[in-house]
Amino acid sequence: MGEANFVKTICGYCGTGCGLVLEVKDNRIMKIRGDKEAPVNKGQTCVKGAFAYEYVHAKNRLTSPLIRKAGKLVETTWDEAFQFIAGQLSNIKTSWGPDSISMFACARNTNESNFVTQKFMRAVINSNNIDGCNRT
Ligand code: SF4
Repeated sequence: MGEANFVKTICGYCGTGCGLVLEVKDNRIMKIRGDKEAPVNKGQTCVKGAFAYEYVHAKNRLTSPLIRKAGKLVETTWDEAFQFIAGQLSNIKTSWGPDSISMFACARNTNESNFVTQKFMRAVINSNNIDGCNRT
């Protein structure tokens, strides 16, 4: 077994953005603690930030996009997935108008990602139908 490394990062579970220190050994997260130097949380974390990291090493974790073809989900490239999404959104907008499209943003995203999400809906789709779980 190799030596443990300590890696500073930002928790991705909610928009609070707590600083975390990951104890990593043999490319696996062994333990997480709050970063005492992080101004947001000063070493504190909630239960998710400290303990909910098993998914990182889950064997059934999705690692590439999937598109349903002939009723079956098939692995594809990000290029094809984005082309597919853009094509479908264009078709819906042309057929039913921009208000037929809505977007639900996620509190797990960064503020910057949520900003881009609402900008995309308002400026590209021309719809104000945007909401998110981070206001609940
Ligand atoms: S540790 Fe908890 S409060 Fe802090 S960012 Fe993660 S989920 Fe949010």
